[in-house]
Amino acid sequence: MIVILRPNTDENSVAFKKTWKFLEELNNIRLQKNIVEGKFQRLTEIYLFGDTAAVNQETVEALPAVERVVRISQEYRVLGRHKDSKRLTGFDYNGLHFDQETLNIFAGLCAVDSKESVELMMKALKENKLTCTRMGAYKPRTNPYSFQGHGKDCLPYVFELAGKYSIKVIAMEILHENHIREIDDALELTGRPTGVIFQVGTRNTQNFELLKAIGRQNEYPVLLKRGFGITLNESLNAAEYLASEGNSKVIFCLRGMKTSFSEPHRNMVDFSIVPALKRLTRMPVCIDPSHSVGSRETSPDGIPDIFHVTAQGVIAGANMILVDFHPEPAKALVDGPQALLLKELPKFIEDVKIVRQAYEKRRNLFKASKSVK
Ligand code: PEP
Ligand code: MN
Repeated sequence: MIVILRPNTDENSVAFKKTWKFLEELNNIRLQKNIVEGKFQRLTEIYLFGDTAAVNQETVEALPAVERVVRISQEYRVLGRHKDSKRLTGFDYNGLHFDQETLNIFAGLCAVDSKESVELMMKALKENKLTCTRMGAYKPRTNPYSFQGHGKDCLPYVFELAGKYSIKVIAMEILHENHIREIDDALELTGRPTGVIFQVGTRNTQNFELLKAIGRQNEYPVLLKRGFGITLNESLNAAEYLASEGNSKVIFCLRGMKTSFSEPHRNMVDFSIVPALKRLTRMPVCIDPSHSVGSRETSPDGIPDIFHVTAQGVIAGANMILVDFHPEPAKALVDGPQALLLKELPKFIEDVKIVRQAYEKRRNLFKASKSVK
């Protein structure tokens, strides 16, 4: 059961205190509070776990701070939609908004290999008016002898350069609970010139202890990648691990499924399920065309496969694009073959704009026919 309080309810108010006290005294019920920061309002939701069948909905609805009560199904309790279209989706972070309507492009390095490539990358982003990027400091590699990322050593210069080039948010994968602290310390040391979204990679989608540790903090949002060899339900439950610990600022990322049937692409592109994800959950949906396709190959129409696949996600309503670029792909230490060139960035942005406009037109077409009914 979710108890949704009136917008902007103050936790020190009498109404809040009375409501909380009543709920707290219910038998066999555990409470968890969740703050949802929307564009225009701040909503407090109280989740009731346990023997909720015995709780009288009308009594709870009559409590002073309560706006309404939603009974939820077992699946994806916090992040699911539960047929309640009025619940807010998304969150604000570091001056940007992320929800199921917005579209943010995170173009950047798969892995930070040198200060020079970070600077060239960020300079190109600024020139193209982008304020988000990806920068891998900790890399999960198949081969233990491969480059593992510069780790915490590169963080100070990555964050300082982000400040210099007005980057507001960096998607950065973390592999261990300790990395939360390392990133937080480096941001503090450099005066918090930028923000970070913690990325959980496909290999760690079901690393439950890592998910719980990330979920226990509420400052940094999370980009959770779909597991490459598990069901969608299992991946969505992984997202719910984050939310069940208190962090519901979660973006769900599709990055392709592992199967040899996807050849010549690296993974089987699964962007057709963007709309289904938006229906099942309240999470913004990200697509990662780079790790799906895995190469810079171009088809006879002159359009690179990565652009084509990006378009498939955007036309389906994707809310974020995570894409690899590199100033000199031949010298990249990780995933060079799939990195787009900096000179391709303006075209990438333009192409996304064209497709996004087409999506918006499609959406309006259906909105219009809905209101005719
Ligand atoms: C990445 O985005 O750098 C990455 C390792 O992706 P994935 O977890 O999808 O393989
Ligand atoms: Mn990669």
